[in-house]
Amino acid sequence: MRKLFQMKIHNFSAGPCILPKSVFKKAAESLVNYNNTGLSIAEMSHRSKDFISVMEKATSLVKELMNVPEGYDVLFLQGGASMQFYMSGLNLLPENGAAAYINTGTWSSKAIKEAKLLGNIYEVASSKEENFNYIPKNYDIPNNASFLHYTSNNTIFGTQFKDLPDTDLRLVCDMSSDIMTREIDVKKYDLIYAGAQKNLGPAGVTLVIVNKNALGKTGRSIPSMLDYQIHIAKESMFNTPPCFSIYTTMLTMEWLKELGGIQEIKKRNLAKSNLLYQEIDRNSLFEGTAKTEDRSVMNPTFVLRNKTLNEEFLNKSIEAGINGLKGHRSVGGFRASMYNAMEIESVQALVQVMQEFENARG
Ligand SMILES: *Cc1c(COP(=O)(O)O)cnc(C)c1O
Repeated sequence: MRKLFQMKIHNFSAGPCILPKSVFKKAAESLVNYNNTGLSIAEMSHRSKDFISVMEKATSLVKELMNVPEGYDVLFLQGGASMQFYMSGLNLLPENGAAAYINTGTWSSKAIKEAKLLGNIYEVASSKEENFNYIPKNYDIPNNASFLHYTSNNTIFGTQFKDLPDTDLRLVCDMSSDIMTREIDVKKYDLIYAGAQKNLGPAGVTLVIVNKNALGKTGRSIPSMLDYQIHIAKESMFNTPPCFSIYTTMLTMEWLKELGGIQEIKKRNLAKSNLLYQEIDRNSLFEGTAKTEDRSVMNPTFVLRNKTLNEEFLNKSIEAGINGLKGHRSVGGFRASMYNAMEIESVQALVQVMQEFENARG
């Protein structure tokens, strides 16, 4: 363990994610003494001027970075994306109403399960029969569906929507694993939600962007903690917010803005994923698991053609300081999660291990 600490660790873990070193450093300092107040950011009243300004800054950075139009609100909630699976339906699905869902893997399946508690859910498309290795493109949506829900990036199976789903319906999207990694057109959505811990910050906070006009129309009575309108009215402070997670998320967004915003990070993300996919395709020992056109920029998944080599390769990667490469149990093989804060040097280190592994086998 000691020895590992001295070498550079390349963290390809699927989440919680890496964050920029500068963000961790600033967050650590603020945990001891926030802005020379003599108080930790974690012990400060969430009603204090200092924390309110953190909340305002975080909200305005989301709006600025993502070009959020008028009429939308930004919320920082708790309960993870998993809570949103139910909360989204509760606030948007009319009583006795219907909605359409695209099933592209574990997370969308879970979203469907929760939504079914609330109404008539049409699973209009699914790639389950191919172990979710592609994004379905043709589907019919029943007329009475009030929105279409999808998962933009499938963290576990390594697929990603490259275009918006083909529909005129309002969209609801779980963007947990690719939020702020590429530009999106927010006005197509009634709701976007994302657990922070894949690209934005530490676990404990969920980003929600919601179209105000879509709310208050279900005819349901909604418990306060699950009611977007209450959280909007209370500016994400209906109850004590996860102050430290929100603060660190704000720092990450400041870093992103400084870097050149989402346009710039998108270029960097593409450079990283192109580098790795080129090696997966070139290297005779490996193959990708997702259909080429649907491959995720965030979570490339790949396997060794000869599975008996799995452990040996994993050990070689660990020796090179690579962490978190083991694939999810439902896919096997390997998954290289390459979120915003990962530098291309880490991907180069992985590619080098793959090349050395091939060379050693002649
Ligand atoms: C990680 C992840 C989730 C789960 O998020 P929690 O915040 O742990 O509830 C949901 N959806 C997607 C796409 C994810 O990647």
